[in-house]
Amino acid sequence: MSEVDSKPFSSKYDIKEELGKGAFSIVKKAVQKDTKDEFAVKIINTRKLTSRDVQKLEREVRVCRLLKHENIVQLHQVFQEHDVRYMVFDLITGGELFDDIVAREFYSEKDASHCIQQILESVQYCHENRIIHRDIKPENLLLASRTPGANVKLADFGLAVEAMDARHYYGFAGTPGYLSPEVLRKEPYSYPVDTWACGVVLYILLVGYPPFWDDNQAKMFEQIKKGRFDYPAPEWDTVTSSAKDLINKMMTGDQLKRITANEALQHPWIKNRDKEASKVHRQETITVLRKFNARRKLKAAAHTVFLVTKRSSTFFSSRANKPTTPAEVTVQEEDSGSHTAEEKEIVQVTQRLINSIADKDYKEYSKLCTEDMTCFEPEACAQLVTGMEFHKFYFDHLPASPSAIQQSMITPKVQMLGDSGAYCAYIRLIQTVNKEGVAHSVSIPETRIWQKFGGDWKCVHSHRSAGGANPARSPDTPSDQ
Ligand code: ADP
Ligand code: MG
Repeated sequence: MSEVDSKPFSSKYDIKEELGKGAFSIVKKAVQKDTKDEFAVKIINTRKLTSRDVQKLEREVRVCRLLKHENIVQLHQVFQEHDVRYMVFDLITGGELFDDIVAREFYSEKDASHCIQQILESVQYCHENRIIHRDIKPENLLLASRTPGANVKLADFGLAVEAMDARHYYGFAGTPGYLSPEVLRKEPYSYPVDTWACGVVLYILLVGYPPFWDDNQAKMFEQIKKGRFDYPAPEWDTVTSSAKDLINKMMTGDQLKRITANEALQHPWIKNRDKEASKVHRQETITVLRKFNARRKLKAAAHTVFLVTKRSSTFFSSRANKPTTPAEVTVQEEDSGSHTAEEKEIVQVTQRLINSIADKDYKEYSKLCTEDMTCFEPEACAQLVTGMEFHKFYFDHLPASPSAIQQSMITPKVQMLGDSGAYCAYIRLIQTVNKEGVAHSVSIPETRIWQKFGGDWKCVHSHRSAGGANPARSPDTPSDQ
């Protein structure tokens, strides 16, 4: 299997339903015509890729071909037909490990120990084969099937690199909450980055929330660099000291002192699971993990929007926190597309206005509108509303906010109307997670007319249509590239 198979994929397989989407790929079910065996095929259009992306794809193929392990998603064949690359993998039908855990009736430390053991087995095997995965996280931990006790499978080798003899700086890659201190410090690194990420995963497996979290990513990175995390009461009081000891060893700040995957597998909490790990059911962990899962999915959906808009080269901007990309920094930079400086100003002032609504900041909102602004909006029952009183009423009576909200402006189109006027048409995407952890999003088409008074842009008219709601989609594992 050293050469790319040149025989057309389509003559051997029938393509079925979509299973998932990645940054540059779409994954579909495929049935082998002769045997009727089912597979997952990752389909990538290579024509649109830059040469750097092609290199990354080649790297992923090389790495996947090398690895054969019961806890790793197996690549079987690769085809290239014109501009389309097909990668045929084992079909994974059990979904994400973390989604399975929250559906369980019983879940204890002992179960967590069994999960992390399988993850560590896959990681140890990668390391033996001189591969650093670099993106160990819940989205990439799948279950082979729906059968209870099915194997955990490590997936998505899109960021994996072939290790050099010595530590080396392979670039800033991974997913923010799982990045190790040495990657954040941009120091030469190696296999221990994976063990660190396994430690983060183990922490979550035990209490349902991550060790490092801050809405402000810079602050979170500071915490990680200090290696500062704790075990808050009461949820950690019921965790054995043996489990905490293993986490401490996996999340040791100094990469040279950190336990290896192999050593972690020898730790009593894993090796003598029956004796060392608690068998008490952890209901609170399941409840908290459910919310954590919902938030991750929301982020994944936002990230997909980001990539789609970025690739079609339009301007995208989100609220203060940028979409959390598991990315090499180069792709995190927002693309200002084809907008001129003036048009960008309009996009920015529109974003400010949207933020003021999300923040329920009437003072800021009223600064950005004229006293006698007009608007059409569904709530006004097909009447043209004039003046700010109508808006103020809504600001004064806005309900308590959901647990999490993010508003993004998608595909804004700006047209200047002379020197002192402009209109901006866009879709406002509102994403929320309610207190039960259920994710929801609404897209609303909106148009605003802006006029310049002195040096300031003010909104003189807006027109909003009723939004289309869609429940949160299944997660698109956001990868870098
Ligand atoms: P990318 O590297 O482009 O992000 P991934 O390898 O992460 O692509 O695959 C994208 C999505 O497709 C995954 O999140 C998952 O939902 C689905 N998927 C990938 N591989 C399989 C597989 N072997 N079986 C079932 N679903 C898969
Ligand atoms: Mg992926």
